[in-house]
Amino acid sequence: MPDARERLSVFPAFHKVAGRCVLVAGGGSEALAKVRLLAETEAEVRVVAPAVGPALRALAVAGGGSVIERDFRAGDLAGVALAFAATGEEAADRAVAEAARAAGVPVNVVDRPELCDFYVPALVNRAPVAVAISSAGTGPVLARHIRARIEAMLPRETGALARLAESFRATVARVLPPGEARLRFWGRFFAGPVADRLYAGRPDEARAEAARLLNGPEGGPAGFVWLVGAGPGAEDLLTLRAQRLLQEADVIVHDRLVPQAVVAMGRRDALRISVGKAKGAHSATQDEINALLVRLGGEGRRVVRLKAGDPLVFGRAGEEMAALQAAGIGHAVVPGVTAAVAAAASLALPLTLRGVASSLVFATGHDRDGETLPGWAGLALSGATVAVYMGRSVAGRVGRALIAAGFDAATPVAVVFNASRDDERVEAGSLADLIAAADLSAAGSDGAAPDQDPALIIIGKAVAAADLSAARPLRAATLSAVAA
Ligand code: SAH
Repeated sequence: MPDARERLSVFPAFHKVAGRCVLVAGGGSEALAKVRLLAETEAEVRVVAPAVGPALRALAVAGGGSVIERDFRAGDLAGVALAFAATGEEAADRAVAEAARAAGVPVNVVDRPELCDFYVPALVNRAPVAVAISSAGTGPVLARHIRARIEAMLPRETGALARLAESFRATVARVLPPGEARLRFWGRFFAGPVADRLYAGRPDEARAEAARLLNGPEGGPAGFVWLVGAGPGAEDLLTLRAQRLLQEADVIVHDRLVPQAVVAMGRRDALRISVGKAKGAHSATQDEINALLVRLGGEGRRVVRLKAGDPLVFGRAGEEMAALQAAGIGHAVVPGVTAAVAAAASLALPLTLRGVASSLVFATGHDRDGETLPGWAGLALSGATVAVYMGRSVAGRVGRALIAAGFDAATPVAVVFNASRDDERVEAGSLADLIAAADLSAAGSDGAAPDQDPALIIIGKAVAAADLSAARPLRAATLSAVAA
């Protein structure tokens, strides 16, 4: 049993109101708010007040309710399931509450928790699924904030999924023995192709998938691999879709750059496989990763392949998709916030800026053959902002190539390490400073230990518009030759 402070003063329950009468005493804005909430249900509303506003009347009548225009009388409570005192006047509300209590009808009094038999929760409606949030009258605003988060998290079609399940329930009970097999069926029903199709707005395909799941061969549905962008590091920069898939996955295959907190969002019993990718340290080769994904998908697993940032930006997703395609394994990509835009956000740096920067180049200092001398430098015409990934060890050559391509040595540069993470730091200077710092570090003159923090280099005139108040000057110590 929880200790005294953790015990609730209320018992959450859902009151049946379909076809039953719910009384609302009051005709103003408080009453309207209650009738709006009741309109989410199948209750028959009975509004009693000497004067009833037109919006309130229309809403009550539209839902099959009735409006009685006079003062409240105790007789109005006949046959009523629940009552709301919302007259806007204290004495009148108190009279309604007393009459209700005498009649044995549970009552809620607006803004008077001490007179309430029950509280009204903040509601997330995915009929027939409902989530009700209560702070037991202490913090309605808090409850609303929580509701907003749950609203965002629960797909619109959650209700449709519940109804589809209901339509299969009898058949499932006939076809599958209770216990393990039935549980497995429902597990796959709610987190598999059936749900995916519904969430994608394709109810007919969802039904077909459900039938296939029920009649299909034992061994279950085919596996699926999602290539999911984990964002730059901050947990709350993960997309809602990524979060949902993480909670549904059987297996999570992740890179070193993906923070532990994001990996931890998966199901507790999910298998987690780290495929390394620390520069210099041993890690699985890309071929091994491709083979792993193909094997897991082939075993019928639901796999989330979690990658830093966006999977399609220097994420080698192309090779993984090709391998999955060749093996006939279903796959899809979930985008993520890529490092360049996360770094720009941290600096309030407009990557494009009218009259200053009209194009944006995502470039890398490395490719499959190791260092790439930036052949892309020519692309970075004047007026471009250049975001360099994996550029630390080649920063000097990147800088020189850009100058050769026509960039001014005074062009501003910002380097963001660990963008969006708690240990984010920024260094800033000019293109000339970048070259000097990188060359010093390549010579090892500073003797500092190289670190492995991911760094994104942004170069271009737009950098001058950024907020660099927290930046330190570009230093050789941090642009070491060993780091990524
Ligand atoms: N797919 C990733 C990029 C992977 S390549 C994305 O879209 O962001 C790895 C490079 O990304 C690192 O060398 C670094 O340049 C950059 N990077 C990734 N996360 C970063 C972060 N939080 N801060 C700065 N740079 C980052």
